[in-house]
Amino acid sequence: MSADFAQRLLSWFEHHGRKDLPWQQGVTPYRVWVSEIMLQQTQVGTVVPFYERFMTRFPEVSDLAAAPLDEVLHLWSGLGYYARARNLHRAAQQVCELFGGCFPDDLERMQSLPGVGRSTAAAILSLAIGQRQTILDGNVKRVLARHATLSGWPGQAEVARKLWALAEQRTPTRRVAEYNQAMMDLGATVCTRSRPDCDACPVRTDCAARRLGRPQDYPGRRPKRALPVRAVRMLLVREPDGGVLLECRPPSGVWGGLWCLPEITPSTDPLDWCTDQLQQAGALGRRFAPRRHTFSHFHLDIEPLEILLNQPGCRVLEGTGRLWYNPWQPNNVGLAAPIARLLEEVVGPTTTGEIDG
Ligand code: SF4
Repeated sequence: MSADFAQRLLSWFEHHGRKDLPWQQGVTPYRVWVSEIMLQQTQVGTVVPFYERFMTRFPEVSDLAAAPLDEVLHLWSGLGYYARARNLHRAAQQVCELFGGCFPDDLERMQSLPGVGRSTAAAILSLAIGQRQTILDGNVKRVLARHATLSGWPGQAEVARKLWALAEQRTPTRRVAEYNQAMMDLGATVCTRSRPDCDACPVRTDCAARRLGRPQDYPGRRPKRALPVRAVRMLLVREPDGGVLLECRPPSGVWGGLWCLPEITPSTDPLDWCTDQLQQAGALGRRFAPRRHTFSHFHLDIEPLEILLNQPGCRVLEGTGRLWYNPWQPNNVGLAAPIARLLEEVVGPTTTGEIDG
């Protein structure tokens, strides 16, 4: 069955697999690694233009390692989940410092790189250098869980263990790169989350979920839980010329390393904040519609408030983690999505990208 399963996948791949994606040309571990990180949580169609821009700017891992984090985040803007970009930058530095600029060729050291989990490490080693390695990304989990009607949420250790065992059993000993690519392609294009096209599937004849007529029931969903809510006021502090004060977030945590608006608690007076922090008086400007931004682990309720300064803000902000953002000539900085949207509402469309997350 395993050999036959793999064989059917490989035959299907010859006719229907994706073979002309940018990271499938001039294959190197570096190129595959960047694509694998970008493809976590993001669709191929969205990734391609970002990947090409990224590779033009950082053709080698040493270029990425030497770049300022702000530039990496800026090029990542619009892809979302920017922790991936921070990890990518750190991992590039580790490849250069610890491994002499060459990616490791074993699973253990590959997994030691920031942001590289077991499946990503296996994908890089199999796709880039043809090692027999088993992958288990979201697409592969879906195909396997359906084919074997393996119930339960893959986030549970026991379900994950069974899926890894199944994936291992089915991985062939030859043509592993093509097989792994075929599994990812099948999950992305045929065995999709909500509308699997079972009639076009190469493993339909023995797919248990199809036989039951309930492929969408597999894999099991994450148990629902109520998310906590955090409320903040976000200050759009504006100079007379329209510049908006931004602050750089600490490198780790929510929106780490991105530029955001100053935040205060709902009980803090924004004008007091202005006097304390900028040593000048401000006046309340417009109030914008409150909004909610949902992270994976909490809701953030945002109350945006405009504060108008009647003198230019202090110009010398170097080293303070603050900058005056000119919305008409945007700086090359990474902005969190809700911040980019707020800046658009305040002064019209910005030309920078934005980051979900
Ligand atoms: S037959 Fe349908 S449910 Fe089963 S693996 Fe193929 S597309 Fe997925």
